[in-house]
Amino acid sequence: MVPYGRQSIDDADIQAVTDVLRSDYLTQGPAVPAFEERVARHVGARYGVAVNSATSALHIACLALGVGPGDRVWTSPVTFVASSNCALYCGATVDFVDIDPRTYNMSVERLAEMLERAQAEGTLPKVVIPVHLAGQSCDMAAIAELAKRYSFAVIEDASHAIGGNYQGRPVGDCRYSDVTVFSFHPVKIITTAEGGLATTNRDDLAAGMRLGRSHGITRDPAEMRSVPDGPWYYEQITLGFNYRMTEMQAALGLSQMDRLHQFISTRRHLAAAYDGRLASLALTTPWQDPSTESAWHLYVIRLDDPDRHRATFEALRTAGIGVNLHYMPVYLQPFYRDMGFQPGHCPEAERYYARAISIPLFATLGERDFDLVVDAVSAAVGG
Ligand SMILES: *Cc1c(COP(=O)(O)O)cnc(C)c1O
Repeated sequence: MVPYGRQSIDDADIQAVTDVLRSDYLTQGPAVPAFEERVARHVGARYGVAVNSATSALHIACLALGVGPGDRVWTSPVTFVASSNCALYCGATVDFVDIDPRTYNMSVERLAEMLERAQAEGTLPKVVIPVHLAGQSCDMAAIAELAKRYSFAVIEDASHAIGGNYQGRPVGDCRYSDVTVFSFHPVKIITTAEGGLATTNRDDLAAGMRLGRSHGITRDPAEMRSVPDGPWYYEQITLGFNYRMTEMQAALGLSQMDRLHQFISTRRHLAAAYDGRLASLALTTPWQDPSTESAWHLYVIRLDDPDRHRATFEALRTAGIGVNLHYMPVYLQPFYRDMGFQPGHCPEAERYYARAISIPLFATLGERDFDLVVDAVSAAVGG
């Protein structure tokens, strides 16, 4: 089976991890801050806070922004469940903004409509979480304008998008948001096995997220309520978690950062090759907004005929192509239906779900497997 995504681990990665294993620190050593610094510098943000997953990063970002019971958080329905679960962890309620039929990202028009209605009803969100699906940035300038007008905070879920650009600048610089979150799960662009990182330009949010990641404990006298009793002294000043990244993960991440550029250029090259080879089939290849350069985490084809969706998907799996579907609208999950969400809530997201298939795309996808995918898709979909 050709998988839809997989990691690329080289000898330098293995060396970096084994070096840490032979060193003094397996956790809370120098590799984590070095990785944070590296990613933050790469994307052009002031701070990076590394954690054990993007899910944890989303959670501590919500907490640092003060999300709690009675608050509302909005995100895209076409995403992994973590983009919306993070709000539920904080006791907030969630709602979903329907997608743009071209980019499959949160639609700015739908967002504007929902905000206008929410303002009239007194139900404005505290935080909106746009998701850069497949690695293509949302229209962040437009979202930031709405954020200013309606006073909500913005967390970019860039789990798919490290290495991508928006308006010629790296995703993660937080020029149009409060926090950006990356994932380093093995199917994503770079990996730390499990792992995530939040970037921000705000001192208060960096400090808040650091507290959230490590029990709410501080060793910084400036943050303490009392004068330290002695050099051993620390204070727990809020309720946090243990979401720390290990030194091995950070060392792997640092080593993977050396090849980020190479990973992206290979993915971009493969995506362009798919665009060409699949152009005449009864499907839509991924449309790219000219203000973005995708990191190409996913290559999503959209079939013209939803009636052939399941059969096409199954034919590809039978042909040894590890296709996938990213994603069923989150609110259709049973856990969300129990909250009262119904089919029809986001019609564009449901139209997308009835037609979308992710085909294999990763940095080590070889020419032979690429041809195998193209032939199988051509045979399964037809012209
Ligand atoms: C992978 C992913 C996450 C969660 O990432 P983890 O690091 O596995 O916790 C969140 N949001 C999106 C859009 C993702 O694809």
